[in-house]
Amino acid sequence: MRYSHYKDNKHIQCLLCKHYCTLQKDKAGICGINFNIDGKLQNKTYGYPSAINLDPIEKKPLYHFLPSSYSLSIGTVGCNFRCPFCQNYSISQTSVVNDAKFYAPQDIVNIAITHDAKSISYTYNEPTIWYPYAKDIGLLAKESGLKNVFVSSGYESAEVLKDMLSWVDAINIDLKSFSQEYYKKTLQANLKGVLHSLEFFAKSNIHLEITTLIIPNVNDSDEEIKMMASFIATKLGKDIPWHLSAFHPDYKMLDTQKTPIKTLLHAKEIAKSYGIKDVYLGNVNV
Ligand code: SF4
Repeated sequence: MRYSHYKDNKHIQCLLCKHYCTLQKDKAGICGINFNIDGKLQNKTYGYPSAINLDPIEKKPLYHFLPSSYSLSIGTVGCNFRCPFCQNYSISQTSVVNDAKFYAPQDIVNIAITHDAKSISYTYNEPTIWYPYAKDIGLLAKESGLKNVFVSSGYESAEVLKDMLSWVDAINIDLKSFSQEYYKKTLQANLKGVLHSLEFFAKSNIHLEITTLIIPNVNDSDEEIKMMASFIATKLGKDIPWHLSAFHPDYKMLDTQKTPIKTLLHAKEIAKSYGIKDVYLGNVNV
């Protein structure tokens, strides 16, 4: 796929995520890492992961995909969202790239094979904004028999969604709220765009699981949990696993209390009442 197109002789439009930023010469879009250089989209994190780790696949979280296997997990820097609770804000809310060592796509695949990983996960920060690097790795990984996993906020462009069908095997998407106002004002994105991606993946051959971070006084009301549960059960499917995770104070939300277990258990009860088969609690010991 083409990652950008010309708007006029001074601007290009980035086609990676639903922000569809118009980029002036030498300027970046909202994510801070995709630039218009000489009329071409240039991603300044290409080849420079901020983190490479071997994680259990359950940590993504994916509970119904290659269980008990390890996934080589990589992330870069930057994000197209502005979540005030981000647990990876030191890499997601910066555009400073550590370019001390270049990792070609084949280098990443070789590391995965050496460590007997069964998949490569594009995670830690939003992989949609560094899709060109992820895809170049992913195609080589596929040739070597490895699976490809995305961990995303679900704001892929229509062009990227279609393109992912050819090489991504599994995805975990965050459904952060069911309030358009919260998505718009706080996260600086659009709920409808995320719901569109969720519906797309639910109908696709890509394995889908969903995660919601339950935050006290933000998205933990019965009404909001019911709206999310109803959407999952009726529009996506009752067999799609839903992970309800506990919030811990972080980044700009240090004054908000962590999510009580009883809130998570209550949310799980609501989810179950809508017929959702697999509901898991995360970030807690129960
Ligand atoms: S990836 Fe998204 S946020 Fe970044 S420049 Fe492209 S459209 Fe804008």
